[in-house]
Amino acid sequence: MTTSDARPVDAKQPELSVITPVCNESRNIEALLKRLVPVLERCAASFEVIFVDDGSTDDTLDLLRAAHAADSRMRALSLSRNFGKEIAIAAGLDHAKGAAAIIMDADLQHPPELIEAFVARWREGYKNVFAQRVDRSVNTPLRRMLTQRFYQLFSSVGDTRLPEGAGDFRLLDARAVAALRTMREHARFSKGLFAWIGFKSAGVPFDVEARFHGESKFSYRKLTHLALDGLMSFSTMPLKVWSYIGSATSLLALTMASFYLIRTIILGVDVPGYASLIVSITFFAGIQLLSLGILGEYIGRIFAEVKRRPLYLIEERIGINPPGVDGPSIRPRSG
Ligand code: UDP
Ligand code: MG
Repeated sequence: MTTSDARPVDAKQPELSVITPVCNESRNIEALLKRLVPVLERCAASFEVIFVDDGSTDDTLDLLRAAHAADSRMRALSLSRNFGKEIAIAAGLDHAKGAAAIIMDADLQHPPELIEAFVARWREGYKNVFAQRVDRSVNTPLRRMLTQRFYQLFSSVGDTRLPEGAGDFRLLDARAVAALRTMREHARFSKGLFAWIGFKSAGVPFDVEARFHGESKFSYRKLTHLALDGLMSFSTMPLKVWSYIGSATSLLALTMASFYLIRTIILGVDVPGYASLIVSITFFAGIQLLSLGILGEYIGRIFAEVKRRPLYLIEERIGINPPGVDGPSIRPRSG
């Protein structure tokens, strides 16, 4: 595969599309573009930057309009409300026209300079090039510890293998993007989807930088939700584990029954027993509620998917046509 394969046929189809979800990031956008644009100019024949405004309530959208007016390669989609980062990424992927798409955060935690290494790997033929964190020291120790536990759990019960330290910061070839577009699930765990699609993959190590301005938008509540989405979308273990627990407890109950039967035959009726009774009733009621809750989690997700609502709604397009208006929005590479 030669470099020339990747050259766009016309200006409408840039070589690279950078997708950046933004939610109240007005203080970071200028700094981001200052670092990003020179990198893109160095390593791509042409490019577009697609900001997906995920229901910002500050002046992020005004800044994006101004950025487009100053440079038409800066484009934006404004979603009708906050749909969450995972959905914002999906919206960006749906509208990327490049021969490759790069997904990155707006807060400069993802160093734009790494894109040069991504592009180099892509030109070597890799279609799914991801940044691999070498340490997570910018996050709090608690978040780090919980994240680590989550990945351990995911790798032991999940059906998809996640490469270690890989996140959303990555380059995807047009073919990988096309594959992701076919996945319209609402409970989106992007890292899992990126791993699921496969394609020739490579990791590029990097150090996460500190957030430039503002605070992380991911509270522990949101992270828990994401972790549950990840586990439930990529594993049926939580559903299956109940048959094992159920058989084990029934076996235990049978053993107890025979024990009491024999004891009663030998020693006669033993009147007290209230304590053991109430303990076991409460214990098994708890187990039943827990297993029902797990079923509920899955059924809730099935319900969300069968409604077949659109993933997101767009309120405003800045320099971006609806998909299909200017021909196929994706131009697969030859070869
Ligand atoms: N983001 C978004 N929608 C949200 C939350 C976050 O589009 O509901 C964007 C945010 O603007 C940033 C990226 O997702 O560009 C990563 O968010 P953040 O830095 O808050 O997450 P963290 O780095 O702590 O994982
Ligand atoms: Mg961040």
